[in-house]
Amino acid sequence: MKCPKCKNLDTKVIDSRATEDGKAIRRRRECEKCGARFTTFERLEFISFMVTKSSGENEPYDRTKVMNSMMKALTKRDFNPEKLEDAINGLENEWAQNKQGITSKRIGRDILRKLRDLDEVAFLRYASIYHNHESVRGFVKFIEDELG
Ligand SMILES: [Zn+2]
Repeated sequence: MKCPKCKNLDTKVIDSRATEDGKAIRRRRECEKCGARFTTFERLEFISFMVTKSSGENEPYDRTKVMNSMMKALTKRDFNPEKLEDAINGLENEWAQNKQGITSKRIGRDILRKLRDLDEVAFLRYASIYHNHESVRGFVKFIEDELG
């Protein structure tokens, strides 16, 4: 979960409880870098929003697809499933806030960013599986840009 103040990605949960209607979990978080405290709500039901594909077609967001594509990239890698869940929940929170819906391209890029934090090998695999690059040079440039 990104810190709203300094954008640092390492935040820890200091308190966690269900909301009154039991449909969401309210978490108090603290940024490990700047100490800012903020609250997030994580819905227990499936979040729903529309995704615009590169063909221009719209389809309802499907968490299973995101999960499967990330699992595929993480095949045989040692990773913490809880961290993967956390990563996807965080992304969904961001995507759902976009009222106009979200493009599949943006989803792909965001997943890449998360994978880079989770596992470098999975990141490279995902980049090569899900992004079409016109040339090797383009791919190398893309990786360099992503790695900053
Ligand atoms: Zn911070």
